[in-house]
Amino acid sequence: MTGGGDGYLKPLPMVTHEDREFWAAAREHRFVLPQCQACGHVWFPPYASCPACLSFDRGWTQASGRGTVWGFTIMRQPYIPSFEPELPYNVVLVELEEGPMVYSNLIDIDNDAIACGLPVEAVFEDATDEITLIKFRPV
Ligand SMILES: [Zn+2]
Repeated sequence: MTGGGDGYLKPLPMVTHEDREFWAAAREHRFVLPQCQACGHVWFPPYASCPACLSFDRGWTQASGRGTVWGFTIMRQPYIPSFEPELPYNVVLVELEEGPMVYSNLIDIDNDAIACGLPVEAVFEDATDEITLIKFRPV
């Protein structure tokens, strides 16, 4: 994680060789997931090799963007100072329709209304010129 330019103060992902294609797609507002070309398994985060069969024959598949809230917490302390203006904010674990779990934030909802099983869909937040984050909102 690293702070970015463009006046964005919160931590940003450090793009690596393993996830470069994921972040490039997000920048184009496409949500893609790694898919094993050997066994078909879909996973996240985008490690280089398939966690099911260990093959390095990795492709990409378009995610539906749909999922459900699997778990969540409400952050009430400024563990990272740049998040302080947003307190209290939520952190959710979304189970994607395709199976993988993704940590993110829910937008367009009161924290009190967040519940496990809530159907959500992905939205794109252009954090900087380089990084677009994937957030979720209720369907
Ligand atoms: Zn595989």
